[in-house]
Amino acid sequence: MPVNLQDNFREVVPALKPKEAVDEANRCLFCYDAPCVKACPTGIDIPSFIKKITTDNLLGSALTILDANPMGASCARVCPTSELCEGACVLNGPAASQAIQIGLLQRHATDWAIQNTPPNTALFQPDSPNGKKVAVVGAGPAGLAAARELARKGCSVTVYEAKPRAGGLNTYGIVSFRLPHDVVAWEVEQIEALGVRFQFETRVGEDITAEQLLDAYDAVILAAGMGNVPPLGIPGEELSGVLDAVQFIEDTKANLYTHDFRGKKVTVIGAGNTAIDAATCSTRLGADNVKILYRRTSAEMTAYEFEYDFAKQDGVEFRWLVAPTQMAGDNGKVTGIQLQRMELGEPDERGRRRPQAVPDSEFTLECDFVIKAIGQTRHTGLIDAFELEHERGIPTVESGTYRTSRANVFAVGDFIFKAGKTDAMVVTAVQQGKCAAAAVFQQLIVGTTQS
Ligand SMILES: Cc1cc2nc3c(=O)[nH]c(=O)nc-3n(C[C@H](O)[C@H](O)[C@H](O)COP(=O)(O)OP(=O)(O)OC[C@H]3O[C@@H](n4cnc5c(N)ncnc54)[C@H](O)[C@@H]3O)c2cc1C
Ligand code: SF4
Repeated sequence: MPVNLQDNFREVVPALKPKEAVDEANRCLFCYDAPCVKACPTGIDIPSFIKKITTDNLLGSALTILDANPMGASCARVCPTSELCEGACVLNGPAASQAIQIGLLQRHATDWAIQNTPPNTALFQPDSPNGKKVAVVGAGPAGLAAARELARKGCSVTVYEAKPRAGGLNTYGIVSFRLPHDVVAWEVEQIEALGVRFQFETRVGEDITAEQLLDAYDAVILAAGMGNVPPLGIPGEELSGVLDAVQFIEDTKANLYTHDFRGKKVTVIGAGNTAIDAATCSTRLGADNVKILYRRTSAEMTAYEFEYDFAKQDGVEFRWLVAPTQMAGDNGKVTGIQLQRMELGEPDERGRRRPQAVPDSEFTLECDFVIKAIGQTRHTGLIDAFELEHERGIPTVESGTYRTSRANVFAVGDFIFKAGKTDAMVVTAVQQGKCAAAAVFQQLIVGTTQS
């Protein structure tokens, strides 16, 4: 990739300067029973970490954050804060006041920890070994959070990861101009420093069987996320230039560029956060025109409002109420996409109005690349290998403990994500990993099964 394009992938949002951080922290009212804490899925003691910033106790501040959320530095960058803590802040008033910039303050404290912690030095110390062995499948936010919590409690934890590096979508998915690699690498290093072992390039179900894990460990936590984008099931999908959004973004994170986007027309199908990331990556790769196509309207899309705004600022165009019916091609390369206009009918089981085709409304849009971003497939093979009960590829888990239909197998994160009004989030994956770890500990050490 030419150097000028690579520069486009540097982190976009600037950090607060030290004085700005202290001034912002001093605006906080340090509320009793603070609503921002209740709105944080990991329950970070937000007034406490902000208070520590006012006295320049940045280590203390970072410890408060990371104690509750081992991915606190990543979440500072990728959480939809306007819908979580900042949305709930009492200063998020309609007129005179503005919510405290909790995300940026969290980044200020955790960045300090990243820059000032000696290499391979754990900020938290593990309890004495308790003799219990736990396997975690998948080194994404959910698996890492579970591994960290269990290691802190003295369990021997091994994480099996199919890819060569840890971090899951934080490493391979979320675009580097929002979440740089070194932030994720530091969070992983912190977990390794607690004694957690990683078996990379080991796909459970292929390189090691479910039985082997069940025999060798006291409990197994499945945190395998989801797979790549499913097929659209329309003619022409096999043409060159028709790309999978998850793979495309992963390639941009690895600086692997097999396609030259400069001056090209790109269409992205779907309107979730992955679609937005694929579209904004395309503009950074020099695409001349990027359009997001969605079969519903902006009211039904699952991308966050701030992501939508970000894409519009990047010049991404949106076309609502259109669905692809086939790809057009020339010499094996995509040259356009045939679309059909849609209208919204009755609500579906999730309450979103169902799109239906408008008769005789087809038209063709010229383009050089089509990026599919219509969701992700399920790891049903893993569910079968562990013989778990499931509902349409989503393992059934007990509320609060994330225990599956097998008593010593737990499942968390995107692996159990049920599509809904919003997309999956790192912070909920982390919290589920923490909850499952607490339930495993309860079951193995305290000897009871909580629910
Ligand atoms: C493009 C994109 C952008 C996103 N943007 C945001 C955002 O801005 N904010 C936000 O909060 N969330 C965002 N998300 C969602 C967020 O990344 C996920 O919800 C979160 O990463 C889920 O964590 P997880 O640990 O459950 O799964 P993952 O992060 O997917 O990790 C699962 C891990 O399991 C491994 N694995 C899979 N199968 C096996 C196997 N059989 N054996 C061993 N290992 C296996 C995978 O290689 C992977 O490393 C985004 C997602 C995508 C795709
Ligand atoms: S709600 Fe706002 S003002 Fe109150 S403690 Fe939280 S961040 Fe501070």
